[in-house]
This record gives sequence, structure tokens and C-alpha cells, in this order.
Amino acid sequence: MSPAQLDTLAMALVLGAVAANLGSFTTVVAHREGTGSTLAGRSRCPKCSHELSARDLIPIVSWVLLRAKCRHCHRPIPIRYPATEAAFAAIAAGVTIQHGASLATLALVLTCLGVAMAARIDLVTQTLPNPILAITAMIGISMFSLAAFADANWTDLIRGLTAAGIAFVVALTVYGLTRGGLGEGDVKFAPLIWLPLGWLGWGAAFAGYLVAAGVALIFAITIAIRQRRWRGVRLPLGPALASGVILVVIADLHWPAELSR
Ligand SMILES: [Zn+2]
Repeated sequence: MSPAQLDTLAMALVLGAVAANLGSFTTVVAHREGTGSTLAGRSRCPKCSHELSARDLIPIVSWVLLRAKCRHCHRPIPIRYPATEAAFAAIAAGVTIQHGASLATLALVLTCLGVAMAARIDLVTQTLPNPILAITAMIGISMFSLAAFADANWTDLIRGLTAAGIAFVVALTVYGLTRGGLGEGDVKFAPLIWLPLGWLGWGAAFAGYLVAAGVALIFAITIAIRQRRWRGVRLPLGPALASGVILVVIADLHWPAELSR
């Protein structure tokens, strides 16, 4: 293994572990579970309120070792915990392995995780949380700027910011025209999604649009079939947009290929 590959592997492992913990935190926030907040004080079992020790709070591992049951009350721990933790770890590791250890990759991973957190909460509450959108935007813009500064290459940053600006104007126009067809959160979410896509290239920005539209269509059909009706189906646009950007960044998808840069 070359030193560069070792760096990438180490970064994937560290960011994967951080992401799994973020996934755990996000599940708690999304479902408003637990009497003790994970931000302040110790975590507690949402069912028996027993304080949880460190060995019961290791993402995925604790759930497997505990055989999906609380150590104290033996009531089941929902599968959504390890599932979200594994998905977040896979996003961080996948993006790192695809793009290799660098500051730009760290920026890509952090924005993808912020986007995933917002979308995961939106899936339950049907609202994209403002604090997570704001923090992700701040971290994203400063990390991409830092990466551009370190490489003395501003082209990717300018393209990323331009793509984000275009996405914001388009989303705002659709919001104005459809009067509620698009949520306020989606208008703020769109530029956040197209910042990393634009950084990767115009081809990635366009591929992101296509993949997000495809995922939205699959969501719409699935919901319509489950609810047995086509009218008034509420589309989870946030999670569809998030899936679009994450899939394109992990696969490094550029379409059309001529628009790669
Ligand atoms: Zn319990």
C-alpha cells in the first residue's frame, strides 16, 4: 500500500467513526428520544430512563452486543439506530475512499454529513432544521475556501459558489411560482447541496439534479402506492435532494462527461 493510500484509509476510518456517532446523535434528535440530551449530560434509555454507560453507546457495536435490547429494561432498541449509524459511516468512508485524503475531501465529507443529518431529521419531522443548515453552510464554505487557499486554486471554489447561487435562484423562483410546492427549507437546502456538486464540476452539478429527480420520483411512486392515492402526496424533497448529492459525490458521477470541469 502506498503512503497516499494509507492516508486515505486512516482518514476513512477516523471520519467513519465520527460519522457513526453523528448518526447516533441525529437519530436521537430526529425522534426526540431520551430524557437526557446527548449534547449536555449523559445519555439515557428513552424507555426506562436508566443512564447509559460508554460501553452501551458505541455505534452499531453496542446494538449488536446487546442483541438490540436495553441492558436495564430489556426493551428493544429500534433498528433505526444502527441503520443510521452504518449509513453515516458509509457516507464518510465512501466519499474519502473515492476522493483520497485531502482538505477538499474533508470539506466534501463534512458537507455530505451535514446534508445527511438535515435530511434524516426531515424524514421524521418534515422540516429541515435551520441550525444544521446554517452550521453546514458555514463549515462547507470555510472548508472549501481553506482547500482552495491551500492549493492556490480558486476555480473549483468559484464554480461551487456559482452553482450554489444558481440553485438558490432556481429554488426561490420555483417557490414563488408554485406557492408552497416547495418548502422554505428546500430553498435554503438547494444551495447547500449544489456547493459540493459545483466544486466537483458542472457535470456533477447536472448529474446531481438528475439523480435527485430520479430519487424523488421513486419516493413519489412508493408513497402513492402505500397511500393508494396520487393526489396530495407530499414528496420528501429534502431526503431526495440529499440522496442525489451523496450518491453523486460517492460515485464521482459526471454527466455529461464533457462537462466534467
Ligand atoms: Zn431501558
